[in-house]
Amino acid sequence: MDFELSEEQNLLRDSVRAMLDRVATPEYVRRCDAEPHYPYELYDAFVEIGLLRMPFPESVGGLGGSVLDFTVIAEELGRKSYDFLGAYGNCVFNGLNVLNNGTEAQRKHWLPKLLDGSIRMSISMTEPGAGSDAGAMRTSARRDGDHWVINGQKVFSTAAGAKNNVINLYARTQPEGPHQQGLSLFLVNNDTPGITLRKLDTLGRRALGTYEVFFDNVRVPADRLVGEPDKGWTYMLSGLQLERLMTTAGYCGGAQSAVDLALAYAKDRKQFGRPIGSFQSIAHMLADMQTAVDASRLLMWRAACKLARGEDALMAVSQAKLFGSEAYANIANQGMQIMGGYGYIMEFDMQRHYRDARATTITAGTSQMQRNLIAGLMGLKTK
Ligand SMILES: Cc1cc2nc3c(=O)[nH]c(=O)nc-3n(C[C@H](O)[C@H](O)[C@H](O)COP(=O)(O)OP(=O)(O)OC[C@H]3O[C@@H](n4cnc5c(N)ncnc54)[C@H](O)[C@@H]3O)c2cc1C
Repeated sequence: MDFELSEEQNLLRDSVRAMLDRVATPEYVRRCDAEPHYPYELYDAFVEIGLLRMPFPESVGGLGGSVLDFTVIAEELGRKSYDFLGAYGNCVFNGLNVLNNGTEAQRKHWLPKLLDGSIRMSISMTEPGAGSDAGAMRTSARRDGDHWVINGQKVFSTAAGAKNNVINLYARTQPEGPHQQGLSLFLVNNDTPGITLRKLDTLGRRALGTYEVFFDNVRVPADRLVGEPDKGWTYMLSGLQLERLMTTAGYCGGAQSAVDLALAYAKDRKQFGRPIGSFQSIAHMLADMQTAVDASRLLMWRAACKLARGEDALMAVSQAKLFGSEAYANIANQGMQIMGGYGYIMEFDMQRHYRDARATTITAGTSQMQRNLIAGLMGLKTK
C-alpha cells in the first residue's frame, strides 16, 4: 500500500498548478463567478498544454494518461474553482463515452475536434419530471428518413450554452417499454435550428452556467446517434464511475482550498490581542476540517486505484462521492464561521466555496441516492 504520488504524477500536478497560477489568477476566478464568464481563456490553456489529450489513448491523438493522472488533474482544477474542473471534466467524460461506445467513424469525426479545442461537450439528462429518476425522461427522438427529429425539454444542463458546444443528449427512441430501456445518446450542436437555451440564475457554480434546453422539431443526421439505438442507459452507466470520481477529486481540491483560506485567516486575524487560531474552539475546527479533507482524499484514491485496476468501483466511488461532497459543504460552512463577517462579503473567496459546495450533495447523484446505492450494495432494499 503506497500513499504517495509517483514522480510523474508530482510533475503533472506541478505543471497543472503552474498553468493555473498563470491564467486563473484570483481576479480571474472572481470575474468568472461574478460576471459570470465562461472560462474560455483557461480552456485555451488546457488545449495548449495538452490537458484535454491526457486521458485519451494515443490511438485517437491522446497522451494515454491513466485514471490516476486524471484524478490528479481534477483535484488541481477543483482547488481553483469547481467550475474550472467542470469545463474540463464535462468534455473529458463525454468524449470518453464517444470513445468507448461510438462507432469508428464517430471516434474519427468527433475526438480530434474535442482534443484540439474546436468543440466542447456538455451533458443533458435531467428533465423537469426526471431528476434522480433519470430513466423517467420524456424527450423523444423519432426517426424520419436520414434524420432524427427531437422534441422535449432538458433542465440543469451545465455549460450547454458555451461557444461551439455539442450537447450529449439522452432521449427516448422507444416510447413504450421498461423505464430505462429505449433511451439513446445523441450529439447535437447547441446552435442547431429548433434549440432554445435559457440560462438559469443559480446560487453558485455560476461561471459555466446551467441551462434549460428546449427542443422543437430539432433535426439531426442519423449518424448523430452514438453507437447503437436504445443503448443509451448502458452508455450512461458505463461512464458514471469515472464521472463521479472526477467530481469527488474536485470536491477534495475545493475543500483543501477552503481549509487553506480559513487557516491563513485564523493565523492572521487578531482579537483579544491574539490570533483567533490560538483559541481552542477555532483550532479544533481547523483540525477537524483538515482531517475531513484527508479522509475524503483517501476514499477518493481508493476508488481511483480500483478503477485504474479495471475493477468495479461502484461502492468505493459512491462512498467517496458521498463523503467528499458532504465534507466540502461542511468545511465551507465552517470556513465562513472562522472568517466571521468577512467570510460573508463578496471580496473574500470563502462565500464562493460556500455557494459552490452547496451544489455538490445534489449534482451527479444526490447524497440520498448515493446512500440508497451503498445500502443496496450492502444487501438492503431501500425503494
Ligand atoms: C448546479 C447544477 C448542475 C447540474 N448539471 C447537470 C448537467 O450538466 N446535466 C444534467 O443532466 N443534470 C445536471 N444537474 C441536475 C442534477 O443531476 C439533478 O438536480 C439531480 O439529479 C437531482 O434531481 P432533481 O433536482 O430533479 O431532484 P429530485 O430527484 O426531485 O430530488 C429531490 C429530493 O428528493 C430526494 N429523492 C429523490 N428520489 C429519492 C429516493 N428514491 N430516495 C431518497 N430520496 C430521494 C433527492 O435526494 C432530493 O433530496 C445539475 C444540477 C445542478 C443543481
